[in-house]
Order: sequence, then structure tokens, then C-alpha cells
Amino acid sequence: MKTWKSPALPQLPGVMPGIQLHETTAQRVVPLPDTEPASLYVCGITPYDATHIGHAATYVAFDLLNRAWRDQDRTVSYVQNVTDIDDPLLERATRDGVDWRELAISQTALFQADMVALNVLAPDNYIGAVEAIGWIVPEVEKLIAAGIAYPVAGGNGEPDGDIYFSVEAASAAAKSGGPDSPWWLGQISGLTEEEMLPFFAERGGDPERAGKRHRLDPLLWRVAREGEPFWDGSSLGDGRPGWHIECTVIAQRFLPKPFTVQGGGSDLVFPHHEMGAGHAFALEHTPMAQHYSHTGMVGLDGEKMSKSLGNLVLVSVLRAEGTDPAAIRLAILAHHYRVDWFWTQELLDDAEYRLERWRKAVQTAPDGSAKPLLAEMRAALSQDLDAPRALAAVDAWAAASIAAATASARAADGSQPVGGVAAASERDADLVSDSLEALLGIKL
Ligand code: ZN
Repeated sequence: MKTWKSPALPQLPGVMPGIQLHETTAQRVVPLPDTEPASLYVCGITPYDATHIGHAATYVAFDLLNRAWRDQDRTVSYVQNVTDIDDPLLERATRDGVDWRELAISQTALFQADMVALNVLAPDNYIGAVEAIGWIVPEVEKLIAAGIAYPVAGGNGEPDGDIYFSVEAASAAAKSGGPDSPWWLGQISGLTEEEMLPFFAERGGDPERAGKRHRLDPLLWRVAREGEPFWDGSSLGDGRPGWHIECTVIAQRFLPKPFTVQGGGSDLVFPHHEMGAGHAFALEHTPMAQHYSHTGMVGLDGEKMSKSLGNLVLVSVLRAEGTDPAAIRLAILAHHYRVDWFWTQELLDDAEYRLERWRKAVQTAPDGSAKPLLAEMRAALSQDLDAPRALAAVDAWAAASIAAATASARAADGSQPVGGVAAASERDADLVSDSLEALLGIKL
């Protein structure tokens, strides 16, 4: 699928120090592996109700990582999928009386326009589930041949032949090690089976499906149903793929095995990333990713922001109301990416005020002030993408710049003695602008 266009990034003097990032399975901040290329897979949207602030916060967070790697002069390989066929998409299309393909196309286009507006760098490969089906089918056949996947008999209105992944057959006997070791159920999430069950049911799983070997076995291939779209599944029969195998096959096709970082919202830890890692190891005897990283959830008015509650704040609606997308991005960056937070109008007002102040301050950037600011921003971002700390450094710089400009204006009109005030420097103004654009994605 076509990806969106990214602007060329300004080149900055020097490089960012080694990046430390929180790792979900280790539950602590660790240095990122320095394998080349630096490779990233961030799970994409299912194209309906795009793009709410929670989505935006996730893609902005991993955009910071992408920019940090580029600032280290690393080669970055970034892949994102779009789940353009899945149950929720079909349900929404039916509810709204629209063709599911039209819904997917229009919502994917809206998502991409939002990403451009938010200045999120494009993935190198943006792959739809539908275009991946021809790659997924032989991989599912491989899992069946290996005894790790199996068909389930029909009954209770379900047809014969849905294919499931056996978590027991896939789990390695040795249950130790991080993400970069053989997989077992629980390796990524650290959850017990009792803890997994409610998440599994809530997030697309079917623990009660009769005939499965284990309640947590996820779907790999759903055979055709009356009134549902289907594709040629070769020996699997007509049907469509499950969600986890979609991401695994796309990631393994376009990225190194294993790749560096698997990213997504914290609601993807289980079952999506857990099962994806299981599929990857079962297929290639190699881990999916070296490092798992997850973003916090964004709520509204004290409640979880969710499609089912209908309380989504959409980036496209804010844009249509005339909100500067840079202010939306700045409101997101004011929170550390791992924290759960609530969207409010006040946050947006604060971001608009901050942006205005930075734009004013850059016009009088004091001579010699840009390099120390760049160093502070790099130090903050290299420490678990600490954007709030980077923003605080820019705030302090802006306060100093505005104070210096006020002092020199007073000196010029004779109301204050001359001396001790750094002159405004165009070179520093340029470097501050370039630093904010390259590292934070904020254009002044
Ligand atoms: Zn995914």
C-alpha cells in the first residue's frame, strides 16, 4: 500500500548518545541493541474511527525513536501494517451501511493525512492485511505441517476448518530469558493464564470456541462465512487471516529476523504481541523482536477513550476546527509516552501557548544558546524518550531568550544599562529550529 511522504530532516551537528528504552518483558529501561539496520515495527490501525488521540500518541512516541535513531546516523527500517480486513471493520461497515472496502480506503487515507499533519515520519513499508494474504497462507500451512496449528471442527453455527495456533505445541520447554530467546506463552506479557483469559476475550480472542485444544489458542485462518469477504487460502480453503499472524508475516517479510523494536499501545501486549512472538518463533526458530516497547493509554474526562464508549477525540476533527497540528503534537509530547493520561481542552490551550512562546523566543535566540539546548534535548530523549524533560529544556531556553530580548530592548531605549546581555543570533535561531524539527518533529 502507498505510504505517505516525509520531509527531509535537518542535519544537526554531533550525534545523540546511546538510547535507553523501557523493555516490556524486563520491565525496566535498558540500552537498545545496536544491530544494523535499526528496525522498527509498529502495529497499525484497523481503518475505522481513525485517528483518535490514543493512536496519535502511539505513532508520535515511536516517531521520537525513529528520529533519535536518525540523529545517531543510523539506518532505520520502519514497517507498519494496516488491518484492512477484520471483524471490527466488517461490523462497522454493516452498521453504517457502507462497503467495507470503501470504509477501509477512506479511513486509511484520513489516517495518513493525520500523520502528515502531525509530522510523523512515514514507514518505509506500509502494508495492508489484504495484500499480505498471499504471503500468510503458506506460513499457516507450514505451521500445520509442523504440528503447531490445527483445524477445528464446526458446530453451533460455525463451519468446519478454522485454523488455530496451539500455544502448548509452540511453547518451548525452557521458560526463561527475555524476548530474544525461545518463546513460551507468557514470555512477552509476563501474565499467568488466569490473567490472560479476560484480556483474550476482550481483545478479539474466543476462549469459549468449542473444539480448541487450549482456550488461549488464537485464530490463524477463518474460513469463509456467508456474507463475509474471503480469499483463496489454497489448502486452507477460502477465508481470511487472523490478526496476529498478519503482523508476524509482514514483519518477517520486510524486516530482519529478529528486528530491533516491536512497538504499540499497552493494550497490544497481550494477546497481540505475545501471540505474534509465538508465531514468529514457530515459523523461523528465531525471536520476533529484540525489544518490546509499549505506550500508555489516553482517556477522556476520566474515562478510557474507546470506540465502544464513543468518546473518541479525533485528530481530523481537531484539524477541521482549525487547531494547529503542531499544538496537538506538543500536547501529546507533554506526557511521557509510557504514562496513561487524559485529553483535555486545557492541555491543548497550554500547548498552543507554549508553541506561541517558542515561536517568539526563536526570533531572538541568544548567541551561544542553541548548542547547550541541543545537548539537553538529546540527553532527555536518549533516556527512555523523555519528551517532557526535553520540552522543559526548551521552555527554560525560551524564558532566557525572551528575558534577554527584553533586557536588550531596555538597554536600547536607555531604560537599563547596556552589558551582560547576549545578542540575538541568527545562527542560534536556525540551530534551535532545526533541533526542534529533527528531534521533536515540531516546526517553529
Ligand atoms: Zn500488530
